[in-house]
Amino acid sequence: MARGLLRDGHDVTVFDQRSNSQAGGGAVTIWPNGSTVLAQLGVDMDGAGQLLSSVRVLTSRGRRLATLDVTAMANQLGAPVRMVPRRDLLKRLLDGFPSGRIRCNCRAVGVLSTPTGVLVDFEDGSSVEGDLLIGADGLHSIVRQVVGAPGAEPTGWCSWQGLIALSDVVDDKHVAQVIIGKHGNLGLWPAGGSDLQWWFDLPWSNDFIRPQCPIAVIRSHFSGWSDSVDRVLAALTDDHLAPSPYPHFRHPIPRQGQEAMTLLGDAAHTMPPTLAQGTNQALLDTMVLCKALADLSSATNDLPRALRWYEKTRRRRVAAVSRVASLQVAHGESVLRPAALLSDRFHTWGLLLFLRLTSHRRMSAAITRDLATATNTPTCTAGSGL
Ligand SMILES: Cc1cc2nc3c(=O)[nH]c(=O)nc-3n(C[C@H](O)[C@H](O)[C@H](O)COP(=O)(O)OP(=O)(O)OC[C@H]3O[C@@H](n4cnc5c(N)ncnc54)[C@H](O)[C@@H]3O)c2cc1C
Repeated sequence: MARGLLRDGHDVTVFDQRSNSQAGGGAVTIWPNGSTVLAQLGVDMDGAGQLLSSVRVLTSRGRRLATLDVTAMANQLGAPVRMVPRRDLLKRLLDGFPSGRIRCNCRAVGVLSTPTGVLVDFEDGSSVEGDLLIGADGLHSIVRQVVGAPGAEPTGWCSWQGLIALSDVVDDKHVAQVIIGKHGNLGLWPAGGSDLQWWFDLPWSNDFIRPQCPIAVIRSHFSGWSDSVDRVLAALTDDHLAPSPYPHFRHPIPRQGQEAMTLLGDAAHTMPPTLAQGTNQALLDTMVLCKALADLSSATNDLPRALRWYEKTRRRRVAAVSRVASLQVAHGESVLRPAALLSDRFHTWGLLLFLRLTSHRRMSAAITRDLATATNTPTCTAGSGL
């Protein structure tokens, strides 16, 4: 979002509670809807992570349920599908972005609307004022609380997840695998070079107690599902599992922000990782919010109205993605068995249609066209953001 605001001539500063801007964790799937926005933001993704050609879905006994033709989807939607380690994605996003505009160690503890904009108080006693506050502060967003949106609910599942350097586990690095069993599921997704993203999804509840030796628990659930799975399980240790598990949460999608405050990304719509859409949805938020701000005319300059337009434009589509991501089908082999009766073409077509309907295709194409024209004719916009 900060890249987009800077591109459009706004004065933007990012405040983050973390002590540095390095990402840990595993990898994320960037689908064509997210890839298109990254291109609009001038983020060079060439050679990053691993391009995918298909996703195979199997049962724990090796029965094939479906194969999604990701290459066909990428061709139809005009942008690739890739698996990118979070650290690499952040590096690409930061490339060319002025580091002085990022302030780390700034934990927001209070937010207040003022007659001229928004005031944010930080934990260290300092504060800052701006015309606009975009709360992109994730699952436990403080800005979300201030605008009065309800908190996130756990879905009853969690992921044990990470990256491991294992080059010869999968036969084809362009193929991702999801395996679904009776009481859990797993994924093995190549993420570039020798990196392999692994995940194991299991039930989770608020009274969950972390096992002392989690790898033994994971092995007891998933051993014997396939040769590749057994090799990954043999290589994983409790150290690999240390940051896990990641419980899945879902936010009710808020109706709107407040005055000069709005929400973006997980702060607005945390959803379970089932469709691997969270980052992609944050990128779509970015595209629509940048447009809302770019369309502010100097005559009316009605910032709250532009923000409410952004929220309204996103709400229905992101709610649909969140609803589908929250369906429990991906967790149950028996529920998914009828899916094997449908053709692979049908599965691919279904996901393609879903992405088309939820990704603001017309707006996105117009923005891409306008940006291409603007590159030839430089323009300058005035304004400011926080
Ligand atoms: C197990 C798992 C797997 C996933 N896999 C995928 C995938 O394959 N593809 C995909 O698209 N998505 C995936 N997601 C979802 C994705 O990680 C999120 O949707 C994405 O990170 C949201 O980005 P964000 O910037 O909105 O929030 P975050 O990444 O949570 O960033 C929020 C930022 O706000 C900062 N912050 C928080 N509170 C404060 C405060 N009070 N003051 C200052 N700073 C603050 C934090 O330090 C952080 O830097 C997955 C999620 C999980 C849990």
